Amino acid sequence: MAKEKSDKDIHLAKDLEDLPGIGPATAEKLKAEGFETIEKIATASPHELAEIGDISVDSAKKAIEVAKKSTEIGFETGEVIFERRKEIGKIDTGSKELNDLLGGGVETQSITEFFGKFGSGKTQVGFQLAVNTQKPKEQGGLGGKVLFVDSEATFRPERIKQIAEANGMDGTEVLKNILVARALNSDHQILLIDKADEIIPKENIKLIIVDSLTSQFRSDYVGRGALSERQQKLNRHIRTLQRLADKFNIAIYITNQVMDNPGILFGDPTTPIGGHVLAHQSTYRVYVRRGKEEKRIARLIDSPSMPEGECVFKVTANGVQ
Ligand code: ADP
Ligand code: MG
Repeated sequence: MAKEKSDKDIHLAKDLEDLPGIGPATAEKLKAEGFETIEKIATASPHELAEIGDISVDSAKKAIEVAKKSTEIGFETGEVIFERRKEIGKIDTGSKELNDLLGGGVETQSITEFFGKFGSGKTQVGFQLAVNTQKPKEQGGLGGKVLFVDSEATFRPERIKQIAEANGMDGTEVLKNILVARALNSDHQILLIDKADEIIPKENIKLIIVDSLTSQFRSDYVGRGALSERQQKLNRHIRTLQRLADKFNIAIYITNQVMDNPGILFGDPTTPIGGHVLAHQSTYRVYVRRGKEEKRIARLIDSPSMPEGECVFKVTANGVQ
């Protein structure tokens, strides 16, 4: 058991700071000297690493050892990936059109991001998914529980109960299967996800919702000077989410606000927060905006395997339809 755990910890080393004995300050020094990746650490000599990072040679040796193992684990055969992808499950969004747009629903082993303005329906989609994940497979669920990280204080149990009951489910039971944590700031949010490794298998979690992914980061890192640190933290955070998605075959649903972008003269003058970090790491990005009355327009952007497209769905008293 201990052996298995240490292997998983090694698998964790994707960033320098995941290595033993390397904290943020040391990582910073190493990066400044060109040791930006685990691969570079893996091929460094202990003495040079010790000198640049201002750490003991022993610590450097340990870090190099873990970096080497991490890069070995970094290679998998195509067949292994093919086998793992066969396990992909899909969660019904409540809307057939929206499911089709996403290639059948919200997938496990992927990150699905909905971005849009306030009131566009991002949280409502999250509530619907939190309910539907609990349904058995034949009914569009994954027969599992949900982890809900609420960073905007918009989690509404009454609303979830309403949606559950409209789906013929017991509202109280449904709420029992949603584990909610309010993220107080960006570091707290990171910690909640970093600690999810234990709770996921223990509670049979099948979906993690982070609503929203970016707002705490946005308020904690203000101004141009803080931008690169924010992006770095956000980058690591989202990679942790992707790792959880792969490791436990679970789905990740994140929401993201948009900000006005005065640089765009034509088209919709809004861009999602998080810039390239998110653009490259979310598997499915959906831009959602309000239409008339209950209607919402969703547009799939930059999907690796699905064509770009648009669909219309509704947010009603009964949930997403
Ligand atoms: P955001 O994108 O900011 O997360 P929300 O998901 O919170 O937006 O969407 C809020 C909208 O969802 C409301 O403006 C309303 O149109 C709709 N909505 C929320 N609750 C209900 C309800 N009980 N019945 C019908 N529509 C609702
Ligand atoms: Mg919201």
